[in-house]
Amino acid sequence: MTVGPSPAIHIVTLGCPKNEVDSDRMRASLAAAGARFTDDPAGADVVVVNTCAFIEAATEESIATVLELAADEPSRERGRRIVVAGCMPSRYGGELAAALTEADAFVPVAEEGSVAEVVGSLLGTPLRPAADAPARTADGRPYAYLQLSDGCHRRCAYCTIPSIRGPYRSRPLSDILAEGRLLIAGGARELVLIGQDITAYGRDCDDEIGLPEVVAAVAALPGADRVRLMYAQPDGVTDRLLHVMADLPNVCRYLDMPLQHASAGVLRAMRRTGDARAFVDLLGRIRAVMPDVSLRSTVIVGFPGETEADVQELLAFVREAAFDHLGVFMYSAEEGTPAAELPDQVAEDDKVERFQRVRDVADEVGHARAAEKVGEELLVLVDGVDEDGETTGRTCGQAPDIDGVVLFADALRAGTLTRVRITDSIGYDLVGEVL
Ligand code: SF4
Repeated sequence: MTVGPSPAIHIVTLGCPKNEVDSDRMRASLAAAGARFTDDPAGADVVVVNTCAFIEAATEESIATVLELAADEPSRERGRRIVVAGCMPSRYGGELAAALTEADAFVPVAEEGSVAEVVGSLLGTPLRPAADAPARTADGRPYAYLQLSDGCHRRCAYCTIPSIRGPYRSRPLSDILAEGRLLIAGGARELVLIGQDITAYGRDCDDEIGLPEVVAAVAALPGADRVRLMYAQPDGVTDRLLHVMADLPNVCRYLDMPLQHASAGVLRAMRRTGDARAFVDLLGRIRAVMPDVSLRSTVIVGFPGETEADVQELLAFVREAAFDHLGVFMYSAEEGTPAAELPDQVAEDDKVERFQRVRDVADEVGHARAAEKVGEELLVLVDGVDEDGETTGRTCGQAPDIDGVVLFADALRAGTLTRVRITDSIGYDLVGEVL
């Protein structure tokens, strides 16, 4: 296959916002090396699949995506190449190359900086990003994820992420701010701070810069109309952080804080801290400093050894905690994790039954909290027009992609910040009229 100096690349991103950031970075270095991009995988010279592998279901989805691409006969005959990047090659290494022969190259997370060279060598066209290549390309969306760190120092018994993304590494504050400026220049008005655990920022550095300092510095960037905090571990949420959030008007009164369970016994088995009482106290502390805060969390049901009493404790906690948004996941026994070796693994049917009970209570509580917003006047960031032709936006209480949206009739440009009166709620979505 003869490919000119500017090969056409299609990038598929699977998994979490951290993978979105990694895809942006790969896109930036490929663009700086002269590549161009296509939304049509059939028209590409190379498809880069940025995979997720933190649980079995995600690995299966990644493999299915590669096999589906490989099954495209005309593209294969035309000599299109498939590069598998991200968490799957990081987790499975050489074993993957032996098994997934449909792929032409593998780029683990740690080597994504060399994706242009890998693509170039596949195509026999040397591709080398310019030295001053921008770290990221902003994609014009009114929000962007800004990664503060990578890897994780914790050892939750069910989790594969430390083995995939390595030990905790804080990004230099200067890099974070430079990328923040670049994203704002590219159209982002909301910066969503992410990492495996943003509250641990600075733990691997010998300066006094922690998450509160990072939040204040990002919030001070010209054009940072909104700053949102996600992936905060409960034992890292300090009073200092809460007061920095409360004192800065452009920091969303919003916190995503995975708790994973409420039963002390289950949390200990998960090698995590806390319990229902401690978490209720923490939520009380947060709401005391930010009474209008919106809270998101995640819980896992069906962890080995979990009893009906533990499920009852979790249900009571979910009712009392009154989260605006709660992600509920079924425990997945992951090869290589301590939890997979534990006795008393819970049967799949029981996991599904427990998942549904917790999901139902979480939705009952979440929908009621959304309905309480009716009549309020809120600032909404317009995200654009969705696939049904509706203009959608989000309040400070709604994170991108996961928390519901505000629907309104007015056709407003993406990136507009506007005051809206909430006139109705539909589940987690709100209906509003522009004031
Ligand atoms: S804190 Fe999150 S990423 Fe880190 S080990 Fe626990 S679950 Fe995994």
